[in-house]
Amino acid sequence: MLTVDVLVVGAGLAGLHTARLLAERHLRVLVVDRRRSLSSGVRTTGIFVRRTLDDFDLPDALLGPGVRDVLLYPPSRRRPVHLTSDRDEYRVADMPAVYDHARRCAEAAGAQVHLGVRFAGFSAGPAGRPSGVTGPSGVTGPSGVAGLSGVSGLPGVAGLPGVAGLPGVAGRSGVAGPLGVSGLSGVAGASAGVGGRSGVAGPSAGAVGAAAGVGAGVVRFDGAEPVRARFVVGADGARSTVARALGLDTNRRLLVGAEVIHPTASGATVPAFHCVIDPRIAPGYLGWVIDDGRHAHIGVAGYPSAMRTGVRHLLDTFAADAPGVTDPTGPGERRGGPIPVGGVLRQLACPAGLLVGDAAGAVSPLTAGGLDPCLRMSELAAEVTAEYLRTGDDHALRAYDGAALRSRFRGRLALRRLLAGITSPAAAEAAVALLRTAAGRSAASKILFGDRSFPDVHPTLTASAGPRR
Ligand SMILES: Cc1cc2nc3c(=O)[nH]c(=O)nc-3n(C[C@H](O)[C@H](O)[C@H](O)COP(=O)(O)OP(=O)(O)OC[C@H]3O[C@@H](n4cnc5c(N)ncnc54)[C@H](O)[C@@H]3O)c2cc1C
Repeated sequence: MLTVDVLVVGAGLAGLHTARLLAERHLRVLVVDRRRSLSSGVRTTGIFVRRTLDDFDLPDALLGPGVRDVLLYPPSRRRPVHLTSDRDEYRVADMPAVYDHARRCAEAAGAQVHLGVRFAGFSAGPAGRPSGVTGPSGVTGPSGVAGLSGVSGLPGVAGLPGVAGLPGVAGRSGVAGPLGVSGLSGVAGASAGVGGRSGVAGPSAGAVGAAAGVGAGVVRFDGAEPVRARFVVGADGARSTVARALGLDTNRRLLVGAEVIHPTASGATVPAFHCVIDPRIAPGYLGWVIDDGRHAHIGVAGYPSAMRTGVRHLLDTFAADAPGVTDPTGPGERRGGPIPVGGVLRQLACPAGLLVGDAAGAVSPLTAGGLDPCLRMSELAAEVTAEYLRTGDDHALRAYDGAALRSRFRGRLALRRLLAGITSPAAAEAAVALLRTAAGRSAASKILFGDRSFPDVHPTLTASAGPRR
């Protein structure tokens, strides 16, 4: 059976970025995704905010022109509040290209990415945690044996204690493993304890001077043989199956969003972001049109229980006369999916694994932006995971504390409740009237152009990691 240090479920932005960071720490990482292609089933508009573009290295070629103008409309669509920033605030990315780039970065760091594989379940070893720690030299201690006990009784699992921790055996042999992933040797225990922070070996050696030989358990898939993993990262989106399998918290407050995208005549419009507050088409959120002069994205999102005619019908109704829409110059594409808006979940980690991205509820409850949180939380998740696998000490996981993060969301959660409370067109008209006042414009500018859509998850980490990664 193939053994990896970390099995990442989900090749969205959270999963791919976490995988890259873990592989850069010399861990043996396998990413699986049920999608057969990363350019299919895209679930996001792909608006990146300035703060993300400042802090993370997204190649310019993957991003559309900058957008500085935001117009906020009431249901009547009359007299929108027009805000203009003196900087580019948003750029809409070519998301299939972003996923492809993130995949290539993860693979270049040493991670394996396998598509068309659906996570089906997880059986923890008796301890449900890494079983031991190698010494600094990378020679496996008792953990190689303890590791065996961690998988005993699981059908078809051949423990190979003899190879655990032997540097010569570990590494990417180029032999195809059970998933057909060449490069991961499939030798149980091959994630031998050399390298990484103990300073001995490079990526070919596999693990980070860490607990060797055993995993937290065996992961089952639809469409592939099981894999033994020391740790599982659930990056499988808003309705995470991994969260349920690991007994972690799950998202309960979800919006559902849908959009249509079409190319527009280049340069025909000034790039602008049009937002319509209208509970009839987007109860609890917004209808939007963002046209950067290359593509127009027209979308709606809201609470599904209040979208009686269905999100698709509401999208078509909105698109028929949405503000700021220009004629398509090519075929359209549809996207959609759930958006967790209840804030970061409290219980995000356990000895068998942790959650990142939408699976962790890491979305700004107010703006529903999740791309920036994906990247920021992946940094912390990778650091915590690597430390935990290196030391085998549960304390490392305590740094990944959803309850502590939630406390920094109180203001955003309150504003979300306010937005959710706009249930009639009259209330929406009144809300936009308030935004026309000086105080309202200032508050709206802070939310739309401020740098705080999602808090820093780990101030010391972001400071030490430097501004661009
Ligand atoms: C319509 C819409 C528009 C949005 N627009 C924006 C925006 O413009 N800007 C912004 O910041 N945020 C936006 N968001 C939110 C943002 O897109 C998400 O927060 C972000 O993409 C989440 O990334 P993720 O990697 O956590 O999850 P996802 O991108 O959902 O990735 C999860 C992956 O897990 C895979 N998966 C799921 N279950 C399994 C399984 N059992 N086995 C294997 N694989 C599995 C899925 O196939 C998927 O590839 C939008 C959301 C929606 C729905």
